[in-house]
Amino acid sequence: DEAYLTGDDLTEDDTEDEVDDTVGVLAIVGRPNVGKSTLVNRILGRRAAIVEDTPGVTRDRVTYEAEWTGTRFQLVDTGGWEADVEGIDSAIASQAQIAVQLADAVVLVVDGSVGLTASDERIVSMLRASGKPVTVAVNKLDTQMLEYQAAEFWSLGLGEPYPISAMHGRGVGDLLDVALEMLVKAERTSGLLTPSHLRRVALVGRPNVGKSSLLNQLSGENRAVVSDIAGTTRDPVDEVVSVGGEDWLFIDTAGIKRRLHKQSGADYYSSLRTQAAIERSELALVLFDVSVPISDQDLKVMSQAVDAGRAVVLIFNKWDLLDDFGRQRIERLWETEFNRVTWAQRINLSAKTGWHTNRLKLAMDTALENWDKRVSTGRLNSFLGQIQAAHPHPLRGGKQPRILFATQASTRPPRFVIFTTGFLDHSYRRFIEHSLRDEFGFEGTPIQISVNVRE
Ligand code: GDP
Ligand code: GDP
Repeated sequence: DEAYLTGDDLTEDDTEDEVDDTVGVLAIVGRPNVGKSTLVNRILGRRAAIVEDTPGVTRDRVTYEAEWTGTRFQLVDTGGWEADVEGIDSAIASQAQIAVQLADAVVLVVDGSVGLTASDERIVSMLRASGKPVTVAVNKLDTQMLEYQAAEFWSLGLGEPYPISAMHGRGVGDLLDVALEMLVKAERTSGLLTPSHLRRVALVGRPNVGKSSLLNQLSGENRAVVSDIAGTTRDPVDEVVSVGGEDWLFIDTAGIKRRLHKQSGADYYSSLRTQAAIERSELALVLFDVSVPISDQDLKVMSQAVDAGRAVVLIFNKWDLLDDFGRQRIERLWETEFNRVTWAQRINLSAKTGWHTNRLKLAMDTALENWDKRVSTGRLNSFLGQIQAAHPHPLRGGKQPRILFATQASTRPPRFVIFTTGFLDHSYRRFIEHSLRDEFGFEGTPIQISVNVRE
């Protein structure tokens, strides 16, 4: 008789813990058009920029890993966050807040070809309030002849202004030497607020289901978020949004707000963009518009999230538009079209009125907790032993496939490998999945089970 192995001494492929071996977080701030993006690209170099542009790369667009003469640091790029004309002040305020929250030290970029402006001075007063060390870069001084123009910025009271040309690379090395020396000496205040430590959320659904409305509703709850700034120079742009008093990184909110999908012929692009957002996320909030029939496109977006193995919360939006008859229709639909995802939490809400949005946080937390969950090999095997004893696999051609041993190979989402003496029927696999869910509670996350037949 085969014995069940127990114990947790198996090799596990869980290497997701990031080791931060950088000296700290440096933010590049400044008003629009001074050359922040150009400077960031110059620092990162072309190679890094290309890596970042690969769709599906699970990295935060806001923070980059960078290196200068052997010193590794994180670079917070606020260059993509631009404001419409009347929003410039709020953009500047938000940038300064981002710098305060995310960085250990700051490079303030000003435009030497324009000279000192009132906006520059507003940024400076906010930066000063933050207490973070600041280096001033006076950009667009493309030739040596122009360098003297940097002197004007001594009046900011932030020490020596460094003339640079982000476009041509002039002076950027000297600037980085100074800024990094400051960063190394700076207190590590960025702490856990770094976006790479925030949980990543993709808000997805076909056009018009209410994604931007929900985003607006959530952003309205907390004024400290990076709201109402649409990306113009760099795609995609993520945003820190508070849900239930906690910050989350919402992926590619620029794509949601710009409503690219509403332009003709943009469907293909919009579905690629959805896929990319899902790939970069940990949790997908899948929205449906309950006031109209659920379409294949709705279900396709949901499948994209499930198939990518993301934690999922289903949102039935526009609930305010339903009458009794409509509510019955939705419940019937839930029993049929959604039986693939009975494990997911569903929240009926109204993005427009805010009704039930307070239920999101708990569902999001639960889904991610289960997505991260690990069942010990000991518990797993004793449980599978019990269910197999109570419900053995049906005989097939006189033989009975048996489970020898199982282990959870990984988390995010939970993946199980089961070693057996023969192929398991589809219905028996479903039975195992349901039993695992009943026993261990994987609400909100897909789980994957692969069967490995031992001869
Ligand atoms: P951001 O809005 O601060 O990110 O600014 P961008 O990096 O998008 O640059 C704004 C404009 O300034 C672009 O047209 C750049 O090409 C230009 N620019 C940026 N750096 C320099 C520079 O060093 N010299 C000159 N002449 N133009 C620059
Ligand atoms: P998106 O394309 O997914 O970003 O959808 P929008 O947020 O632009 O919403 C599309 C339309 O649905 C807009 O006219 C919204 O005002 C409306 N809408 C969104 N959420 C709700 C809701 O909860 N109730 C009602 N009645 N209308 C909504």
